[in-house]
Formats: sequence, C-alpha cells, structure tokens
Amino acid sequence: MMPSALPTPRSTPLTRLRDWVKTITFYELLVGMKATMTHFLNYRPITLQYPHEKRTLPDSYRGMLALLRYDDGTEKCVGCDLCEAACPSRVIRVVSAEVPGEPTKRYSKEYYMDMTRCLFCGLCVDACPVDALGMTREFEWAVYDKRDLHLNKQQLLAIGDRSYPVREKRLELQHPNVAFFNVAFQHLPQKPE
Ligand code: SF4
Ligand code: SF4
Repeated sequence: MMPSALPTPRSTPLTRLRDWVKTITFYELLVGMKATMTHFLNYRPITLQYPHEKRTLPDSYRGMLALLRYDDGTEKCVGCDLCEAACPSRVIRVVSAEVPGEPTKRYSKEYYMDMTRCLFCGLCVDACPVDALGMTREFEWAVYDKRDLHLNKQQLLAIGDRSYPVREKRLELQHPNVAFFNVAFQHLPQKPE
C-alpha cells in the first residue's frame, strides 16, 4: 500500500505576507551571512607571520643539541660513549681517546651528530653522566644541503657556547670527592681564544 502524502500546510494571508516580507528584506541571505559577519567582526589571527613573528617556545622545548663546557672553558664530555649507546637513531658517533699523560682519563677526540636522523627524544642527554649534552631552543636549521646537518664537535660546542652562557663549575670543583677519587678532567683542550 502506498504511504499517504503528507498534508501541505495551508497558505494563509498571514504566511503569504510573512514570506513576502522575508523575500524583499533578503532575510535568508542575512541569516546565512550572520556566521560570516560574526567571525569577521571578532577576527583573531591564528597564523603567525613567520619569520617576522615567532611563537614563544615552551620551557620544555627540545631543540638542537649541543656540547657543553665548564665555566673555565673545559669541555665536559669525557668520551664515555653512553650517549652513542642510548641513541635509538644512531645519530651520535664518539671517537674517544686518553687524555695525554693521564691514561685513566678520557675525552672525546672527535664527536659527530647526524641531525638529519635525530628524533629530539633527549635520551642522549639523560644518559650523559656529566651533563655534557644539552638541548637548546634553536630550531631554525633549515638547510639546502642536508650534509650541513652532519655536525662535528666544534660546531656542537659552538651551539652550546651561545645557548648556555651560564656554565657550571668544573666537576672536581663542585664535589671535592671527585678530585679525591682522581677523576678530575684536567688537561682537556681549552676553548680557543
Ligand atoms: S635526541 Fe634522541 S635521537 Fe637525537 S641524538 Fe639524542 S638520543 Fe639520538
Ligand atoms: S656527551 Fe656525555 S655520554 Fe656522550 S660521550 Fe660525552 S660524556 Fe659520554
């Protein structure tokens, strides 16, 4: 059995007058424009005009990695390779060597980071026993040649120098016991003048 058709509302003079007023005042058009005009009048830009405007970075931001020094310019890294072992992306390569004349002490003779593979997870920073690695707030590292993101020790130290102007005292000066147990890190290459 066919369903019966719905009854159409009866057209009365009043409804006809209302429709006519809506037509001549563009009522439907104005209702449609309401959302547009509301957004237009309450406009708040959500796109920053980078690089002219820059967003404030959160305190926990993890940017480019850096190698750090003590306040006298001595490199903190003792070449233990723990950061290399901790890195899940095999970004880091440490070539460690004995400190000349002090066979019980080591330093990183060479240190490389292939930042094209870095996840910025921070595991290397956590693994370092002497806080020789730090994450900076640098993020503007777009390059044309990705080989430019293969950083050596001097480049990583330079990033640390500009990102960590306040440095710690040498480890053996922080804790007298360190000197007592003969793990002071003397005679490492000094920061060039
Ligand atoms: S931040 Fe993570 S991925 Fe990047 S070098 Fe450190 S451990 Fe490796
Ligand atoms: S940066 Fe830290 S963890 Fe990596 S080799 Fe140097 S001392 Fe060891």
